Amino acid sequence: MKNKGLYVVLFLLFALEIVLNICILFFPKLKLEGEAYQKVPVFEKHSFEGATVERFGKKIKGKIIEKSNVNFNKIGKYKIQYIYKYGIIPIQKTRTIKVVDEESPILTLKGEQEIILCPNAQYEEEGFTARDNYDGDITDKVKVTKRENQIFYTVKDSSKNKTQIVRTLKREDTEKPKITLKGKYTLYLNLNQTYHEEGYAVEDNCSQNLTDKVEITGNIDTSKVGVYKKKYTVKDESGNEDTVERTIIVRNPTKNSTCVGKAGVIYLTFDDGPNAMYTPVILDVLKKYNVKATFFVTMAGPDAFIKREHEEGHTVALHTASHNYKMVYSSVDGYFADLEKVQERVNKIIGIKPTIVRFPGGSSNTVSRNYSNGIMSILSYEVEKRGFIYHDWNISSGDAGGTTSPKGVYTNVISQLSKNCSNVILMHDIKKHTSLALEDIIQYGLKNGYIFEAITKETEPVHQTINN
Ligand code: ZN
Repeated sequence: MKNKGLYVVLFLLFALEIVLNICILFFPKLKLEGEAYQKVPVFEKHSFEGATVERFGKKIKGKIIEKSNVNFNKIGKYKIQYIYKYGIIPIQKTRTIKVVDEESPILTLKGEQEIILCPNAQYEEEGFTARDNYDGDITDKVKVTKRENQIFYTVKDSSKNKTQIVRTLKREDTEKPKITLKGKYTLYLNLNQTYHEEGYAVEDNCSQNLTDKVEITGNIDTSKVGVYKKKYTVKDESGNEDTVERTIIVRNPTKNSTCVGKAGVIYLTFDDGPNAMYTPVILDVLKKYNVKATFFVTMAGPDAFIKREHEEGHTVALHTASHNYKMVYSSVDGYFADLEKVQERVNKIIGIKPTIVRFPGGSSNTVSRNYSNGIMSILSYEVEKRGFIYHDWNISSGDAGGTTSPKGVYTNVISQLSKNCSNVILMHDIKKHTSLALEDIIQYGLKNGYIFEAITKETEPVHQTINN
């Protein structure tokens, strides 16, 4: 019988369990709507479905308290608790929220993604930036690795999202080097005068010190009158080549170098204009025969005819502004000041600064002796040094001297024409008889197989012997 008490205890415990089970059966249950575990991108505000209270599988009304510690702006694991109070007994459910960063950082290269480089050049990093939606500026986390001609930029954010970009280096050089000659590209030497090489310089986009690699070919025999060429050639490391030529003309100073240039070509040249009366007449005749000529102008006459000369395809060249021998031949500075004045006049009218010039009285004039001894020797050298080219003539029409009739001008000209040399004819577009003789001269030239041309920078100049 002493076991009776034990049986009672066991029975009571059993009964209590049954009662509890029945109670639990009657207890309401909390049910989450939606997933119990959810991932949310950082910075994205999000609302979650709630929870419901059920008893015997049926929804019942009830107040559910939600407790949440979710911070949408910070990566991490959070909980939302749903609490329903059944009397004094709380019934709970928990939802787990993970705020995550799954976005890759943005890598931006400074400079081009494909870079063209000289074959031997070192690539200097042009820079980059890396930004992440969560970590902000992570440029200092970028890893740069190089493999042959590729540069890899890699960056990972704190959530291990990775971005990689590749920069490609393309090595090529298609640009030619450039040779620049020092001194003149065309120069005149007197017979037996020594040729002095003034040198050259080379610029290249990829190679340095190419100046030492220039090869020069071409011989000059200054003991013989003639036209010689020196050829300067250079190649860069990629084989791009440049060639430049210098023309050296060896002439005999004791002889008039007046038989030069293109044989059988007539250069009609008109000095001292323009002139309101006769320049338009001359231009009309030239136009009628489509013949181009050269006008050595001064400050005289209307601008409109300089404009017309240019527009109709003639060469506008410079005589001097004043044509006053005392002003132009008293000093070198005086000459150039006068010349620049007329150059500026022409520039204002046609937008070109001519460099083709003719000395008043020609380079052989002796009148200049009255103002400065030896000035023509200096000026003939000095004009070329300053980038001008001077032209004399080898046929004088006599129109400014003794000849005053159209017939006389015509006869003077045609009697001197030559098929062996170029024919540079001195005329003046301020003379009536010249304007009247021109048509016959042109007709004669055309009939007899001459060619009319205007003087250009390429025209080999006729030079008279200098006498002062
Ligand atoms: Zn003149």
